[in-house]
Amino acid sequence: MRRISIFGATGSIGQNTIDLIAREPDAYDIVALSGGRNVVQLAQDARKLGAQIAVCADETCLAELRELLAGTGIETAAGETALIEAAQRPADWVMSAIVGAAGLAPGLEALKTGATLALANKESMVCAGPLVMQTARAHGAAVLPVDSEHSAVFQALVGEDLAAVERVIITASGGAFRDWPLEQLASATPEQAATHPNWDMGQRITIDSASMFNKALEVIETKEFFDIDPSLIEVVVHPESMIHALVGFNDGALMAHVGPPDMRHAIGYALHHPARRALPVERLDLVKLGALTFRAACETRWPALRLAREVMAEGGLSGAVFNAAKERALDAFIAKRIGFTGMAHVVEQTLNRVSAQNGLIHAGMSLDNVRAVDHLARETADMIMLQN
Ligand code: NDP
Repeated sequence: MRRISIFGATGSIGQNTIDLIAREPDAYDIVALSGGRNVVQLAQDARKLGAQIAVCADETCLAELRELLAGTGIETAAGETALIEAAQRPADWVMSAIVGAAGLAPGLEALKTGATLALANKESMVCAGPLVMQTARAHGAAVLPVDSEHSAVFQALVGEDLAAVERVIITASGGAFRDWPLEQLASATPEQAATHPNWDMGQRITIDSASMFNKALEVIETKEFFDIDPSLIEVVVHPESMIHALVGFNDGALMAHVGPPDMRHAIGYALHHPARRALPVERLDLVKLGALTFRAACETRWPALRLAREVMAEGGLSGAVFNAAKERALDAFIAKRIGFTGMAHVVEQTLNRVSAQNGLIHAGMSLDNVRAVDHLARETADMIMLQN
C-alpha cells in the first residue's frame, strides 16, 4: 500500500485528491491529513480514509477536532509545529495543497523524508524555488507539478531535450474581468472577482485569476520548475481553458496539452506518475467544441504580468516579497479595504521599498531568510496600505 499525506486536504485541490484516492481505498494507507479551520470536513475525511493523524493549522480549532474524532483512534494536533511534525512522518507521496506561503515549510519537511512531493502550492516555488529543488536533490526526492499548466509542460517534455526548447507558452483564461472595460476594473468587487468562467477553485486563486496574479506566480513557477530562461516564457489568453500549456521546440513543433478544466487530471497524473492510469475526467468532443481562441495578454489590464518579469530579473528573494505583498493586498481586497486595481499598486510599491533595503533581497536562499523577507514584505505592504 502506498503511504499518502495530504496537506490542505480541506481545500479545492485537497478535496479533488481525496476524490481520486477514495475510489481505491485498498491501494492507499493515509498517514496525515491537514486543514486550516474547516475541522468538520477534516474529521469527516480522516474517518472516511482512516488517517493516522489529522492536523488543523488553527490552534483554536483543536478542541472541536478532538471532539469530532473522539473514540476513532485517529491522532489530532494543531499549529505550525504540528504540521511540520506530520510532514516528517514517512510517506511515499505527499500532496502540498495548502494555500499561500504557509505551504512551504511542510513541503520542505516532506522532501527531507525522500517522499515524492506533488506540488500544487505554487507559492513554494515562487518564494523559494531553488531551495525546494535543492532539498529534493539532496534527499533523493521528486517534485511533481500539479498546477495544470506545469503538469502540461511536464508532460510535453517527457523524453525531450531541454536544450531544444525554444519557448513555453502558458495559457490564462483571463478570469472574471477579461472583457470588462479597463475603466470599470477599479470598482470590481471581491464577489465579482471570485467567479471564474471555467475553473472551480478556492476563493483566493479565483480572485488571483481575475487579477492575473495567479498567472504571474505561474510564470515564476515555470522558470523555477523547469529552469527555463524567463525570456522563453510567454502568456497567452485562451478563454476556453482547454489548452493548458504549449512547448515550442527548435524544429518549429508546438506540443500542446489539451483537456477539460478538471484538476483531477493533473493530480491523477502526479499520483500515478510515471504510469498513466484511467481517470474520471470528461473526454473532449473536439467537434462539439468547434473552435479555440487566443488573445494577447495585455500588461495594462494585468500589471501583475509585468511585475513577475521584474521579479525574475531581480532574482534572489524577490519572489518571496512579491508573494507576501500579493497575499496582504489580496486580504485587503477581500476585506474591501482596497480596490481591485489597488492590489498591483501595493505589490509594486512593496517590491520597490524592500528592494531598496540594501542586500536583503540577495541575502541567500534559506528558509529563515525567506521567512524574514516574507515578514518584512507583509509589514511593508500593510504600511503602504495605511498610508494610501
Ligand atoms: P483552498 O483555499 O480551496 O484550500 C486551501 C487549503 O489550505 C485548505 O485546506 C485550508 O484549510 C488550508 N489553509 C489555509 N490557510 C492555511 C494556513 N495558514 N496553514 C495551513 N493550512 C491552511 O485553495 P486551493 O485548493 O484552491 O489551492 C491550494 C493551492 O493549490 C494554492 O497554492 C493554489 O495556488 C494551488 N492551485 C490550486 C488550483 C485549483 O484548481 N484550486 C489549481 C492549481 C494550483 P481550511 O479550508 O480548512 O481553512
